[in-house]
Formats: sequence, C-alpha cells, structure tokens
Amino acid sequence: MSKKIRVRFAPSPTGPLHIGGLRTALFNYLYAKSFGGDFILRIEDTDKKRYVSKSEQHILDSLKWCGLTIDEGPENEGNYGPYRQSERKELYHLKIQELLKSGHAYYAFDKKEDLDFHRKNHEQEGKTFIYNAHNRLKLKNSLSLDDKEVQQMLNEGQEFVVRFKTPEKTEIVCEDLLRGTVRVSAETLDDKVLYKSDGMPTYHFANVVDDNAMKISHVIRGEEWLPSLPIHWLLYDAFGWKERPEFIHLPLILKPTGKGKLSKRDGELIGFPVFPIKWSSDKGEVLGYREAGYLPSATINFLSLLGWNPGGEKEIFSLSELVSSFSVKGLNGSGSRFDPDKNLWFNHQHLQLTSDDVLAKCLEKELVKKGIDSKEKNLTKIAALVKPRLNLLSDLVNVSLFFFKDPEVYNEKALRRFNNEEDLLLLSSLFVYFKTIDPFNAREIKKSLEGYISENNWSFGKALGLLRLAMVGELSGPDLFSLLEELGKETSEKRANSLINILKA
Ligand code: GLU
Repeated sequence: MSKKIRVRFAPSPTGPLHIGGLRTALFNYLYAKSFGGDFILRIEDTDKKRYVSKSEQHILDSLKWCGLTIDEGPENEGNYGPYRQSERKELYHLKIQELLKSGHAYYAFDKKEDLDFHRKNHEQEGKTFIYNAHNRLKLKNSLSLDDKEVQQMLNEGQEFVVRFKTPEKTEIVCEDLLRGTVRVSAETLDDKVLYKSDGMPTYHFANVVDDNAMKISHVIRGEEWLPSLPIHWLLYDAFGWKERPEFIHLPLILKPTGKGKLSKRDGELIGFPVFPIKWSSDKGEVLGYREAGYLPSATINFLSLLGWNPGGEKEIFSLSELVSSFSVKGLNGSGSRFDPDKNLWFNHQHLQLTSDDVLAKCLEKELVKKGIDSKEKNLTKIAALVKPRLNLLSDLVNVSLFFFKDPEVYNEKALRRFNNEEDLLLLSSLFVYFKTIDPFNAREIKKSLEGYISENNWSFGKALGLLRLAMVGELSGPDLFSLLEELGKETSEKRANSLINILKA
C-alpha cells in the first residue's frame, strides 16, 4: 500500500494571513486532495515575541472562506494533536534530550554580549562569525567545558540554549521535488539554536519534530525556507529517521511591477486587497478580498495560477476542478508576477458563472442595507441583466440602481450631445409612441420601436441612446428593451418625460 499523503500548512500566528500564505495553503490542499490525502493546519506559535492573538482566527476564517477544509487542526483535532506548537512542549523536551544524549546537540551558555563581541571582531576583519566547528571549542558550551561545570551551571538555573552540532567537512545533499538536488557545504552552516532554557523550541527544531510526529509526507512551503532545508535535512539524520518528507519550495509571488516579492504596501499603493478577509487591529481595519467583492472561487482560481501551469488553454477552474487537474509537474520554479487586473478579470469570469438567484439574494441583502425598496421587482431578472457588467460583487447595487430609483443626474456629455430641437422632438415622439406598445415586454418593445424608428428614418443610435439616457442617466447599461420591460410602461414614460423637461430647460 502506498504511503498516505499528509501535508501541513504551518503558519506562524504573527499577523493576518497574507495571500502569499493563502497560496501556500492552497497548493498544500490541492496536492493532498489530488491524492485523497489529508490537509493539516499546524499553528507554529513558539515565538512569543511575535505572537498576535487574533492571527489564528484570521487564518482559520480565511481558509474557511476559501473552502479549504482542514482535516486536522486546532479546531478539529485528529490523532496527531495538539496542533498548536505551544501545546507540544513535552514532546520537544523529550526530543531535545534525545539529541543531547546522542551527541548531536549541546548546551551553550554564551551571553548575547559575548556573541555580539565576536561578531563585531569578525566583521572588522572582513569575516563572518559562524558558531560551528571552526570555533565552538573556544566558546562557552558543553563541548568546551567539563561535565561538572556544565551540570553546575544547569543546576544554578543559568540561561542556556541547545545548539545543533553541525557535522564537519561534509556536503549536505538535499532534494527538492521542484528544484532538484541542492548541495550545501556544512562549513557554511552555523550550529543552529534548537531549544531555549525557557522550554521553547525554535522554528527549525519544532518544525522537523512535528513533521515527523505528524507523519507529514510532503512539506510544501515558500521559497524563503529553502535555505533552511539543509539544517532540516541534517536533523532527520541526527534523529536517525530513515524517512524524510518530500520537499517542495514554491516560487515567490512577485510585485505587479519592478523587482521583488509582493508586499502589503503594493496592495496599499495600487489599491488591491492582500488579505483574504478583513483584518482588524488597534491600528484600524484593512479590508480583504471578501469585503472588496471578490468571490472565494475566483480568488482561489487566480492564486492557483501564480506558480502553477495547468497546461492547455483552460483558465477558469472551480476548486474541485483544480483538485483534479493539480500536479507538481505544472509548478514553476521561478516567481510569478501578481497582476491586479488579471485578478479582477478572474472575478468577472466567476461572477458570470454565478447563478442569477444567488446574485439576486446578494442584491436583496445590499438593497435592504441601503434602505432601498425592491418589493415589486424581479431581482433574479435584474441580476441576470446586470451580470455581464459586474467585476466585483460589491458593484451589484451600483450597476442596478436605476432599476429602483429614477436617475438624479444625467451624463453631462450625453446631455450636451442631445441638447437640440431635433433630438427633443425625437424623444417626445418616442414618448408618445410608448403608449401604443402593448404588451409592454422586451420582444414587443423591440419590434415596435424598431419599426417606428425606421418608418421615420431616424437614426437608431440616436433614438436608442436618448431612451437609454432617459432610463439610466448614462449611455451604457444592460439590454435596453429588457430594461424597459423591467421598468414597466409607467416608469419608462415618467423617465422619458423627465428628460424631455430637462432638455427643454
Ligand atoms: N512557520 C513557518 C512559517 O511561518 C512555516 C514554514 C514551513 O512550512 O516549514 O511560514
């Protein structure tokens, strides 16, 4: 039987979930689900200084909004809990003892000032201070001190860290499914701190211990963790674990223009959301994709194509289609540029796939919020009419407002264009002609009006433009005949009359 696929998304709760993090979560989810595997959420909260309490909830709510269902996590524990690292201290304590006993780790008592001193000295000589085989015997640790002395310091409760004893003169050869073989000389690595005297592990240690304990088969994470791969690799060796997970380091998401990785500031500058859902803190509230009117399906679809190429022409995918199409082969090694316009385009496409009834419900909710009466209206029909004009769900009321309210302002340019005797006469004739159209439905309106306009040799563009301006206040909008039907004869006449009066004035 092949091994069960188990992946984890392992964010540190240091703030809101950023869309870069969401993409990492998404690729983990897609990978797991494409094999019928498990998607695990592990909260890596060992760094108390950077801990932000609302962050975990933001991560959970964001994943929920996107439909990335968690199989095991802090809210739904599986067999490998707890799922917050701060609740797994006993395991780390046991595991660090194991490495201390086997000689793969050692206690170090160096004070911060001493290390700073060495660092400065090295810098002055143009060198970099690395705490490893070069100098560890000259520093204050259980390798350089005798056992009694070490025991005494521990008994006295002196502050310490436990460092990894990086093997000497070896080349570490690691594998990444996307990037192939990565070779690093051990000389360039420092003896990483794994554990501190306050009982807290560091990221590297807890991460590896947990991936092993939680039977993670694939570690899929951002490229920024690639430099940590060698130390993680060595930790597996040190524990004597024969099996490592497979590693995939995802390419960066790049800024819309210029160099470097996408940041929160790019969103602020250009005006697009960088969080899936809103983030509130003492500094205020930042809206997310949800609040800006993006659909979760569109957000996910767009993100999936940042760093992954499904092959072929198809661009629009639902989450389940992504699951069935996803494969590591389609992942790109190099960064993908974030394009806010493309983001909007995906949202437009997904809105077109949304049913009229669903849109009608959203519209109703928004109208109620704004205190606009829609009782007599066929919202499903209105939703269908305005759908092609929607880029954001939040545009819904704006693009359909004229169905509920007479125009208060008219497009200035259009008013100037139609401000002459001839056009006034044309509109007045159309207004009178309205009365004869029966039944007042789109088909009949189209047939009658077109016949009437051509009998009189009027320009279609002008006649229909005038009517549209009267109904909408603009020269653009949904199909004119359907919109006249929806407004009804009485309202249509009233609006035509209002424009006649304005043009007269
Ligand atoms: N806690 C790390 C982070 O915040 C996780 C890195 C990893 O997935 O190994 O991104």
